[in-house]
Amino acid sequence: MEQHIETHRFQAETQQLLHLMIHSLYTNKEIFLRELISNASDALDKLRFEYLTHPELKKDNETLEIRLEVDKERRTLTIHDNGIGMNKQEVIKNIGTIAHSGTKEMLSNLKGSDNQELSNTLIGQFGVGFYSSFMVADRVTLLTRRAGEEEATRWESTGDGTYQISEAIRPTHGTSVTLHLKEADPENKLDDYADTWQLKRIVKRYSDFVSFPIRCKEERDIPKRDDEGNEVDDEYETTVEEVTFNSMKPLWTRRESELQKDELSEFYKHIAHDWRPALTHLLLKVEGSLEYQALLFLPSEPPQDLYYYGAERGLQLYVRRVLIMERCQELLPSYLRFVRGVVDSADLPLNVSRELLQQDRHITQIRKYLTRKLLDKLKEMKEAEDNAEYLKFWKAFGRAIKEGLAEDFEHRDRIADLLLFQSSADPEKLVSLREYTERMKDGQEAIYYLTGESREVVEHSPHLEAFKAKGVEVLYLIDAIDEIMVQHLTEYKDKKLQSVGKGEIDLGTDEEKEKAEKERKEKQKEVAPLLDKIKDKLSKHIKEVRLSSRLTNSPVCLVGNEHDHSANFERLLNQSQSRKLPKQKRIMELNPQHPIFLQLEKRYQANTEDPSVGDYAEILLGYALLAEGSELHDPHRFNQLVASMMERSLSA
Ligand code: ADP
Repeated sequence: MEQHIETHRFQAETQQLLHLMIHSLYTNKEIFLRELISNASDALDKLRFEYLTHPELKKDNETLEIRLEVDKERRTLTIHDNGIGMNKQEVIKNIGTIAHSGTKEMLSNLKGSDNQELSNTLIGQFGVGFYSSFMVADRVTLLTRRAGEEEATRWESTGDGTYQISEAIRPTHGTSVTLHLKEADPENKLDDYADTWQLKRIVKRYSDFVSFPIRCKEERDIPKRDDEGNEVDDEYETTVEEVTFNSMKPLWTRRESELQKDELSEFYKHIAHDWRPALTHLLLKVEGSLEYQALLFLPSEPPQDLYYYGAERGLQLYVRRVLIMERCQELLPSYLRFVRGVVDSADLPLNVSRELLQQDRHITQIRKYLTRKLLDKLKEMKEAEDNAEYLKFWKAFGRAIKEGLAEDFEHRDRIADLLLFQSSADPEKLVSLREYTERMKDGQEAIYYLTGESREVVEHSPHLEAFKAKGVEVLYLIDAIDEIMVQHLTEYKDKKLQSVGKGEIDLGTDEEKEKAEKERKEKQKEVAPLLDKIKDKLSKHIKEVRLSSRLTNSPVCLVGNEHDHSANFERLLNQSQSRKLPKQKRIMELNPQHPIFLQLEKRYQANTEDPSVGDYAEILLGYALLAEGSELHDPHRFNQLVASMMERSLSA
């Protein structure tokens, strides 16, 4: 039969990656083996999972395993697995293109540059899968057969931009990747990967925890024996024996003291596909009526899709060492979706389905326990003498944690204890609610905050003036999610959270408050006709005009009632929705001590019909909007008013 060989071209990005591999000066070339073993292990996991639903595929006496085979003469190394395998379409799709968005992004950073450092980062930390074999081989052949199908496929490439595909014969399912090794070149850190001792070393280093045996024929010199079976002194013969290189002991079944740093970090890379080291880990073992183990990791950086609703997330779920779900969402609440790791349960059925999981009592219990342990761990990190690690965590995942206040009522207090905010106290330091309450002033009843677009905007807001003057600390809530957060977090340890932009504000001792309030009420009665006039003029936007107790330097500000949305919230909603919400009417507060108010009052007393009073009212409204970071209702009108006022005062 004539063999039909097709030639295909690699996708552009793949070509780029291959070019990088072939010309790589990356010193740690041995990681190719980790990548190929990791692929083989994934393929075995997939097959084991498929057996759960298609038990008829399973053959008796079949051991799922990875085998390394060396041919010293031909200088080849083959990585065999009897996993799920691929059919022709899958080979073209999986081996010809790059699926990982992360790799693609890294590549686009590299475009056109010969940045060796960047490419080393890409290779070393991110791991570049199958293609890394081209660092050590100048030709790679792959022979594969999908479980449950008859035909096998052969794929071959020298990494030059094209690959060849043909039909082939393979007696059983699985994949064999054969590397035609380059000559060893110690000067360029190219070890001899046809040497089984090297292979053993590399497997131990990177893949010891792989849960399938990684077997290899090893040559050994054993003492020679005579016909009676006695050892002959100083004489040896070489035998070949197949041995297993890895211990296969899953990390999560070990004790904390048995976990080695390197191994943990390799394991994290393997399960999380994250090239950056994890921030920290948490090993949990639960024994009793419900038995399970978990090994969880906090990544050091957020994934790009952390806030993307449809993104896949969840921990790996094993049942008695068998991986049954790559991404099991049910094991953690959504606000902890950034946590990576594995849970291995002894009590779930192997064929557990997604639907079952959602109602499973065990899963609910596991989720509760993991959540509590994670929150405890975070608290411990936060309260550590050196909390640098927590600050890093907070920067990466603080926003997600805040979602927990709305999502997880049961743990609300625990979550509240993890929050950190900017505040008026120290621009360099974040403050927790506990620290805030510990330094509250005598007589201060509420935890004050102001929401806004940025520290810059909030810091200059007129709403803060009285607080600054009295030295009362105000939290700056400048994260978009903070607006939602304060709807759910209304108190902390019996102290109310109160916006300085809402309601009436009284600061000082009870006596001071009473006195100030009395004075303000009297004054307000006195100037009521002016306030009414301003309100009439601005009635489209303003529902009340009153004298303020929160201003010291500014003439005016806008506030809301206790339950009104803040201006910032309106701004955010309108950003995210195409149909604009109708604007809420606000309350205008005037500073009774300010010269502008005093002069305005004089002018009004002189002539209650003076039309300029209305113009000034409009300008004051514009001023107040700009001061809090809101948009003007009518910028053109505002400019006209300011210009004509300047004209008048210049010609006066
Ligand atoms: P990654 O493993 O990060 O997805 P690779 O380039 O290493 O990237 O592999 C691409 C894809 O090729 C894998 O996701 C898998 O679908 C398939 N593949 C690779 N090696 C094997 C194998 N030994 N058995 C089955 N499929 C494999």
